[in-house]
Amino acid sequence: MPVPAATWSMPLKGVRLLYMHETDAAILIGLETESKPVVCPACNSAAVVGYGKMIWRIRDLPIRKKAVFLEIKRRRLRCRECLVTFNELVSQISAHHRATTRLVQSVWKMALRQPFTVLSKTFGMDEKTIRNIFKDTFDAQVSQFRIPSCRPAPSALAIRLPTILRQQRVMWINLDQGTLVDMAAQATPESIHASLQRVASGGAEKITVPPDAPLIRALQASTQSPLILHPRSMRAACSDVIELGRTINGAAPYLNTLSRFVGANSAAEAARLWQDLSSPPPELQTKMDPLNAALGLLPAGCFEAFGQPDHACDALAEQLDRILSSGFSRRSYDVICAIALHDKTLQKTARTGVAENGAHLGYQKTNCGTSIPKLLARLEKLTRDNDASDAGMQT
Ligand SMILES: [Zn+2]
Repeated sequence: MPVPAATWSMPLKGVRLLYMHETDAAILIGLETESKPVVCPACNSAAVVGYGKMIWRIRDLPIRKKAVFLEIKRRRLRCRECLVTFNELVSQISAHHRATTRLVQSVWKMALRQPFTVLSKTFGMDEKTIRNIFKDTFDAQVSQFRIPSCRPAPSALAIRLPTILRQQRVMWINLDQGTLVDMAAQATPESIHASLQRVASGGAEKITVPPDAPLIRALQASTQSPLILHPRSMRAACSDVIELGRTINGAAPYLNTLSRFVGANSAAEAARLWQDLSSPPPELQTKMDPLNAALGLLPAGCFEAFGQPDHACDALAEQLDRILSSGFSRRSYDVICAIALHDKTLQKTARTGVAENGAHLGYQKTNCGTSIPKLLARLEKLTRDNDASDAGMQT
């Protein structure tokens, strides 16, 4: 059955159409390269001769939910200088998959919105292939994920440690922009160092941190930037202790001081009250030890933010924590990371003036990271869509 040409557009350059044919299972499109002169990829010699032709089967975007295969007839060539044989190259075909570049890009974009099982049906490809295409594109995105040098280093960064897929992860927030700028699967000294290089070329004016000793140690090994205690994280940790302490006899005076510390509204008051908290009742010792360990690493000025109103990012970051820790149990960490960091439509960009020798030349678009409000809206929509779709689906 012939295929109406209007439904398919040619994704490749330098090939001509031979036929279009539709079977019950697939649409087959025959193409042939235009046999332009080529040079040897090994030695650059132009002394290249034909060495036969072969058909290469490449998957393209489906049409009306039917699989589309391009059957590309291309030359096999041989170099007369160095005797290497090679295949003619065709542009716009993935280097890693038997698929057109546009198919690979389409799979990537949709994987940020839908589970792999849905994509498998949409593209008529098995889930393993979808997964492989996603993984390769993700890896390429991660390796390209470099902050351009022209981007101004953020003056204030914050780190949060949300639990995603039952593990504590690291989330980097640019407080100046209200954006998510990096994530790491685990808080290791290596991952902290790598993130710092990516988001702040090694440093920021200050970094707000939760009371977590291993994280603080890793940061102090990698940067001279001053570390400020994040008041809300600290208050949340203390509230847990207060809750536990209510059942303990004789803990009331200590808990009273702890409550006053939690409510402290100046840096000096917080610092003073914290000193009074150095000897907890024995029953609360194991709860207070991690907090003492963390604060023991921080300088005296770490309570700086206690006297100030909460940062506008705090509430947004808490919403993000909540939605990521409660939903998305059926998505892989890589998929969550891809949505949170690599979806271009969610990124906040700024136009930066480019000047040379004092002369103004124009503007350059600078990526400032993922907008947290936009990301929240997307995640809420995904959660609604997931609830509405087949509950048994996995990605
Ligand atoms: Zn050669």
